[in-house]
Amino acid sequence: MPDLRPFIAGLPKAELHVHHIGSASPRIVAELAARHPDSKVPADPSALADYFTFTDFAHFIEVYLSVVDLIRTPEDVRLLTFEVARDMARQNIRYAELTVTPFSSTRRGIDEKAFMAAIEDARKAAEDELGVVLRWCFDIPGEAGLEAAEETARLAVDLRPEGLVSFGLGGPEIGVPRPQFKPYFDRAIDAGLHSVPHAGETTGPQTVWDALTELRAERIGHGTSSVRDPELLAHLAEHRIPLEVCPTSNIATRAVADLDRHPIREMVAAGVPVTVNSDDPPMFGTDLNTEYAVAARLLELDERGVAGLAKNAVEASFLDPAGKERIAAEIDAYTAAWLAR
Ligand SMILES: [Zn+2]
Repeated sequence: MPDLRPFIAGLPKAELHVHHIGSASPRIVAELAARHPDSKVPADPSALADYFTFTDFAHFIEVYLSVVDLIRTPEDVRLLTFEVARDMARQNIRYAELTVTPFSSTRRGIDEKAFMAAIEDARKAAEDELGVVLRWCFDIPGEAGLEAAEETARLAVDLRPEGLVSFGLGGPEIGVPRPQFKPYFDRAIDAGLHSVPHAGETTGPQTVWDALTELRAERIGHGTSSVRDPELLAHLAEHRIPLEVCPTSNIATRAVADLDRHPIREMVAAGVPVTVNSDDPPMFGTDLNTEYAVAARLLELDERGVAGLAKNAVEASFLDPAGKERIAAEIDAYTAAWLAR
């Protein structure tokens, strides 16, 4: 197999499943830590590299929460958002739907209107200065229950920032049944937002069915266990419901035991639209380019196949038709020029 990494690095890409705070790279965390010297997080990037070396999933949660603790003011929110876009631009990501959990910030006392203004200001600057188009998915942190669901739905519907396109549900799945969130998804969908809950990551295919029937999911975050239910795979394929696959994340969270046995092959073989994503990239020691390389290896793709994966993400996005066409054309032009070298 040829090394596809140089091709992937330059390929224009869209990302549909990536978390806001989970995208804070050591560089960004160092900047935030320097703003808050009382934090236990080191502000020195070389010390941070060690800090970011995860020993297990509990350690990941600990680091994640210590980064949450660094987001204390609207200026922190603005800095994080813009710097995440800068990391995306370096990977030639042209468009991303960033999953934002406003409840984590408003609960900590950040003014809700100031929070919205901060992400919107960063979004516009990212588009103007970096050429990265950002849209938001506001997600319910499932572990925080119905209070968080109520607050997230209210923020999404009443304060709806211009860049908001979808409504999600994250956090643990075990012990957090999807159907209880139906009223909140109904409100968001009635307000014109798309439904994109996480499901079938650490629980079985019934969770994916619940997401489809109760939460009216248009895409599924992960959906890893769908491959255990042929009827579900057929349903996803027939209704063109994309899965947001995050291979390295699935290994880090032990949703999948080993990368070589990742079910992405079965998903593709069943005709399900598959997109490749990075989830919480620095925290899982990855980035979108690495995830594309992993998918290319597992699916035995050549350059055209990888370009096809990139176009799947554009097609499955909630970008307007003109925007989709622009990025798809860029992917085609890049691929044609690469193959004609
Ligand atoms: Zn996720």
